[in-house]
Amino acid sequence: MSALAHKSILLVITGGIAAYKTPALIRLLRKENAKITCLLTKGGSQFVTPLTLQSLSENKVFDDLWSLTDEHEMGHIELSRSADLIVVAPASANFIARIANGMANDLASTCLLASDKPIIMAPAMNGYMWSNPATQDNIQKLQEHGIDIIMPETGDMACGETGQGRMPEPETLVDIITAHFEKGKPLAGKTALVTAGPTYEPIDPVRYIANRSSGKQGYAVAEALRNAGADVTLISGPTHLSQPKGINFVCVDTAEQMHQECLKALPCDIAVCSAAVADWRVDGEKGQKMKKQEGQDSLSLSLSQNPDILAQICKHSARPSLVIGFAAETENAIENAKSKRVKKGCDWIVVNEISQENPAFDSSTNSVSVITAQDMKSWDDMPKTKIADMLADEIVHFFGEKKPALKAV
Ligand code: C5P
Repeated sequence: MSALAHKSILLVITGGIAAYKTPALIRLLRKENAKITCLLTKGGSQFVTPLTLQSLSENKVFDDLWSLTDEHEMGHIELSRSADLIVVAPASANFIARIANGMANDLASTCLLASDKPIIMAPAMNGYMWSNPATQDNIQKLQEHGIDIIMPETGDMACGETGQGRMPEPETLVDIITAHFEKGKPLAGKTALVTAGPTYEPIDPVRYIANRSSGKQGYAVAEALRNAGADVTLISGPTHLSQPKGINFVCVDTAEQMHQECLKALPCDIAVCSAAVADWRVDGEKGQKMKKQEGQDSLSLSLSQNPDILAQICKHSARPSLVIGFAAETENAIENAKSKRVKKGCDWIVVNEISQENPAFDSSTNSVSVITAQDMKSWDDMPKTKIADMLADEIVHFFGEKKPALKAV
């Protein structure tokens, strides 16, 4: 049976001459028994008619965000969620720019923004438009957001110029879409829990105790695991980061809430505890804002210890096969991290030594060492996304070989 059989594909057609290839693409996908729902932008409708798409897809065509009947029958959220895959072909420079910047000003862009499904885009445009730094920046952004880009081909273009910007032929697009469904991602079937960010421990309704964690490293790990095929739950304290796509996202404030959400996420195969959980919470959170009293020089807060989420996960009867902790140390980093790994009971610990050269918090780069029971590996001064990818590779090796893959440095 074809990998496309019974797969539901939302096909978004935007405004570009390459839209003339889309009807042929639909015919080929239908031949493989894929279910196609077309979504036409205003620009797309200048090149191909809804009637053509409806006849070939044998399905209703959607094109209006404000249609009362469409919204009633199948709202834009449902449209974006009911597909197994969203394919944008062709993707115009304008559409790419809108999606890269999170705009939702028509049905197609709203669906993409609301979607939690994988997205493949096939850009098609004039060669100068493609190589323009603005477009290239947008493409890089989309890739960072987890959208797969089918690179345009080089050749003669409808505008009479030659260059890179041609949408590949429908047969090539079908091969790529098929490969998407066939792709045996290395962590497919595995579930992962990732904690990230700081926790906020309230003092009164307007004040809290927090720390400098940005959540960047944890979010990057969650995305790297998602890219490797894992089903990821990201439990995050308050951050300024946008919610990653294709991930079960749970937002919490306090350590206790994070603790409860982590327990709910068990059992799972992998736990990566990168959150900077507050060790202490304030006793007796005040219901009203605390006022300075006349003549008051000092204030004492009584603190109680928060649950150690990592240690609890390690001790849990549904302990994941691989539990990874993080440690931020300002002195004797390696020695402290080694004893922390044993004390908490996790398999690996990722340690960053906080210094002026490696501020780690809120920075986009980091230097870490990954310590297992047997080995240690150091990754110096690289983007947090790269560290996340390398950690995901190690996790893939762990499950491939059923033993730690780290080699001694
Ligand atoms: O003890 P310390 O905070 O240095 O340990 C860091 C590791 O423990 C991190 O993986 C962090 O997510 C985890 N941790 C936790 N719950 C706490 C404190 C730390 O899960 N209450």
